[in-house]
Amino acid sequence: MDFKFARRISCLKASEIREILKVTEKPEVISFAGGLPAPELFPVEEIKKVNQLVLEEAGTEALQYTTTEGFAPLRQWIAARMNGRLGTQFAADNILLTHGSQQALDLSGKVFLDEGDVVLCESPTYLAAISAFKAYGCKFKEVPTDDDGMIPVELERILASTPRVKIIYVIPEFQNPTGRTWSLARREQLVKAAMKYQVMVIEDNPYGELRFEGETLPAVKAFDPIGCVLTLGSFSKTFCPGYRIGWIAGDKKVIEKYVLVKQGADLQCNTIAQREIAKYLELYDLDQHIAKIREVYRQRRDLTVKTMAEEFPPGVTFTRPQGGLFTWVVLPEHINARDVLVKSIEKNVAFVPGGSFFPNGGHENTFRINFSNMPEERIVEGLKCLGGVLKEFIRNKLH
Ligand code: PMP
Repeated sequence: MDFKFARRISCLKASEIREILKVTEKPEVISFAGGLPAPELFPVEEIKKVNQLVLEEAGTEALQYTTTEGFAPLRQWIAARMNGRLGTQFAADNILLTHGSQQALDLSGKVFLDEGDVVLCESPTYLAAISAFKAYGCKFKEVPTDDDGMIPVELERILASTPRVKIIYVIPEFQNPTGRTWSLARREQLVKAAMKYQVMVIEDNPYGELRFEGETLPAVKAFDPIGCVLTLGSFSKTFCPGYRIGWIAGDKKVIEKYVLVKQGADLQCNTIAQREIAKYLELYDLDQHIAKIREVYRQRRDLTVKTMAEEFPPGVTFTRPQGGLFTWVVLPEHINARDVLVKSIEKNVAFVPGGSFFPNGGHENTFRINFSNMPEERIVEGLKCLGGVLKEFIRNKLH
């Protein structure tokens, strides 16, 4: 059969992470690849109880179709949580529940992007946001980014010289893939630039609650007086990703458009999942649960950074994130992380080469390490092994 696919399909390729994850399903593989939470922290016993209660108390509603916007008590909870933590002023009407924040990224493409439009992003940026936006035929411009976020003069220069910029996409907290966090000043400057050039900002924040040290900062949205910022959130990293419940929050006029495209995508989020999360929040203390996650991830971050410092050869640098799930490694320029991966997979250690986080290519001497998913002893064993592989590359000047 000569399959006549849409043009957009030709620019999409299988996610490298997904391909690598196939290998990492083997139990002997020590994986620093996916962005998976620690499964031992999922509150399985509590969820059993919650599931039973939801079915007993509202079984038929929980199994019925529901509104596209989502379960009102859950949207109210999300608005209050964001307002309390992030300095926003949302009401339940400003929130649309989505199937993970990933769906909010896809819907954003549907709402804002025509073919040939431009998305500005950090350099590097989240791989699956690139795939989500790319399907709508956009181009990407990477804004030079340092440890504090996008560099304002560079952002301004690109905005002033680039026609058809529709979206500025940022991950200000414990970024995927670098683990970096934007400074307060940069958040404010971003909104000023977006207002000046009348461009939407999509602020993607799935990791903000997982801060190991330092103060929680106000969201980019907190600086927005005109509705040009949309904020994405998720229960994937604070609760369980399997529920696939996230959200998008923003100006009501914009959220109404998202409701229209979500109707076309899947009508609504899974009804019982929404109700179970709301019931969990009613019965249990999410803060206590998140405190447990933070403590485990903080220890794993510390161990990861310490072991890399001990085992990685000179000339290799890495970030020390204040929260989240990832650290970012930069190798000497002549070493390609994809070649390193081939060798380390032979030794049953996996990570994600960094090149795929740059929508316009390059930067092949980088890779991402996830530290949330492996128990401590496997982190040490895996990073020692990876350190050995890196030393071989440097010693033999392998290309
Ligand atoms: N945005 C970023 C930056 C992410 O890292 C992820 C998950 N890896 C997502 C969005 C999607 O998360 P979910 O759909 O599970 O909410």
